[in-house]
Amino acid sequence: MIEIQKYGEVLQIRMSRVFNGQPLYWVAAYLVDGLLIDSGCQHTAQELVDFLADYHVEQIVNTHYHEDHIAANWLLHQQRQLPMYAHRDSLPLMRQVPTLYPYQEIAWGYPQPVDAQELGPVIKTPHYTFEVLHTPGHCPGHVVLLENEQGWCFSGDLFISERPKVLRPEENVHEIMKSLRYLLSCAPDEFALFTSMGQILPQGRQAVTNLLSYLQSVTQQIINLHHSGHSIDDIRHTVFGRESRMAELTNGQFSVNNLINSALTHCNL
Ligand SMILES: [Zn+2]
Repeated sequence: MIEIQKYGEVLQIRMSRVFNGQPLYWVAAYLVDGLLIDSGCQHTAQELVDFLADYHVEQIVNTHYHEDHIAANWLLHQQRQLPMYAHRDSLPLMRQVPTLYPYQEIAWGYPQPVDAQELGPVIKTPHYTFEVLHTPGHCPGHVVLLENEQGWCFSGDLFISERPKVLRPEENVHEIMKSLRYLLSCAPDEFALFTSMGQILPQGRQAVTNLLSYLQSVTQQIINLHHSGHSIDDIRHTVFGRESRMAELTNGQFSVNNLINSALTHCNL
């Protein structure tokens, strides 16, 4: 299913597979001035293509290679010959069928491999210029698009919420914090944040600052407790309470323990 929302010139397209009559997991794409930012998952690919038939689309940028962000690329490229762009670190991963866990198959499905082109430092549309910021941490080759004049920031999965408790094992919380600082240093004083989870936050700087402060605080607590000799279970109990139910649902792919482990590795960043 698709739901749309307008914010000025920006069209948000929220998509979700319907399972047992309920939306399973929302992922957002954005369309602005002919630029499509991300293209959702395989289960909603045809629906997005049908929806976009009435819209002018000139190009696609993918914030990263994950299966819930690229899956309509193939159909759009086949049917409309749209050029696609992503960070160079994402390109080889978009050219292959990913290995997915059962929860990913159910929620999103397997995207068709595509041959995207390397993103430059900016993406231009007829009326706007989007700065491309390399913001790894969620995964390699993640980018954020920033339109400074308009105060628009398309954050992909760099921003999930202001107080996340779970990470995937391959995520690096120190790199995420570095990328958040980089974003804040490049962005205008005020900007709206458009997230892949479907939030549109007019006070984007405050939201990003809150997330960074939260991650700095919990990371420091985790490191301090570790240095005092506490176990991972002790640290989880003290800082977060119980393990998230997401850990069981995703076979440990989204867990509090992953966040703790990430905080305790790569501390020199
Ligand atoms: Zn992602």
